[in-house]
Amino acid sequence: MTTPTLPIYLDYAATNPVDARVVEVMQRYLTVDQLFANPASRSHMLGWQAEQVIEQARRQVADAIGADPREIVWTSGATEADNLALIGFMRANRERGLHLVTSTIEHKAVVDTAHALEKEGFEVTWLTPGRDGCIQPEQLRAAMRDDTALVSLMAVNNELGSINDIAALAEVAHAFGAVFHTDAAQAVGRISLDVVNQQIDLMSLSGHKAYGPKGVGALYVKRHPDIRVEALIHGGGHERGMRSGTLPTHQIAGMGEAFALMQQQHDDDMAHITRLQQRFLRGLDGVEGVYSNTPLEQAVPHIVNLAFEGVDGESLLMALRDVAVSTGSACNSASVDPSYVLLGIGTPRSLALSSLRFSFGRFTNDADIDHALALIRHAVSGLRTPPRQAAD
Ligand SMILES: *Cc1c(COP(=O)(O)O)cnc(C)c1O
Repeated sequence: MTTPTLPIYLDYAATNPVDARVVEVMQRYLTVDQLFANPASRSHMLGWQAEQVIEQARRQVADAIGADPREIVWTSGATEADNLALIGFMRANRERGLHLVTSTIEHKAVVDTAHALEKEGFEVTWLTPGRDGCIQPEQLRAAMRDDTALVSLMAVNNELGSINDIAALAEVAHAFGAVFHTDAAQAVGRISLDVVNQQIDLMSLSGHKAYGPKGVGALYVKRHPDIRVEALIHGGGHERGMRSGTLPTHQIAGMGEAFALMQQQHDDDMAHITRLQQRFLRGLDGVEGVYSNTPLEQAVPHIVNLAFEGVDGESLLMALRDVAVSTGSACNSASVDPSYVLLGIGTPRSLALSSLRFSFGRFTNDADIDHALALIRHAVSGLRTPPRQAAD
């Protein structure tokens, strides 16, 4: 058995390493002897060529979700895409109503953006998911109103791996004349996404959750019928006026390549990651008091969120310093508050504070899993040993 390099990276839900094939593509668009020109430059060949690179990436990303390339708006990541979808849509469609429906366990990029909209005078209904981390279509139906303009519900939850039935949820939104947005940052390449079949109007995407670079993402904006979105960043009128700023050719080409690879490798990736997940779970069979916060029957295989009863999560994290994992999501790991997502699905506070999220990916191997398992078993039994009684 090979010895894994330490620390063992089991935090793929926070970010992925960039695939070497993606890096190779990105390196073509930077230096003086390469295609570094501004893709918006209309006055010379180098600009047109750079624009072609952008358009090819746009097609690659569109293909991954069954969209038309003209429906892809480049952003700096899924966070910006979520902001553009929620704020840009609500501001541009006041006549449709001022009401928005979302859930309490969305990514912070949606939760905090919805709070910002509340301060601006919009009204938000916060749906509470079940223990399985899912929002039921009937729940959404009950929350819909005449003035509901937008419904925003994520495809795959980043802390739990739970999968929402986005087609069914979109159907309810449309039945009430509302527009449907989904944050699909964790879903790309893990569940099938098709904006036509699933009737998605707006979809947020990220490069670095799909083995592409950080700092690039996209918002899918449906064209027929045209969804109106107001720009948040003003300038040269790039991206059909929805998002100004010089396009980063290397980032965008990288995201395009990453999404194309995600499709090509889908079957292999899924088989590999499912096998790792099973190996990981089997390896914990003998450890008592381990509960899955992830609804394993209906979740993506790359995320396993576990509670270790009677063990403090922060202490476990320290004891596992050779394993890179998360106590919740990377965005709130600085605070000792239990994960709002775990609390949101009704996990008791003590169990939420005893939970860790393990997430796997394309470059995780059996040795990583086995070594991590040995470290986890050792750490858990060490932390559970009752402290010695003080002598009378
Ligand atoms: C990572 C993530 C984001 C943020 O994406 P960035 O590209 O890092 O801005 C948003 N939503 C979900 C569900 C995520 O997992």
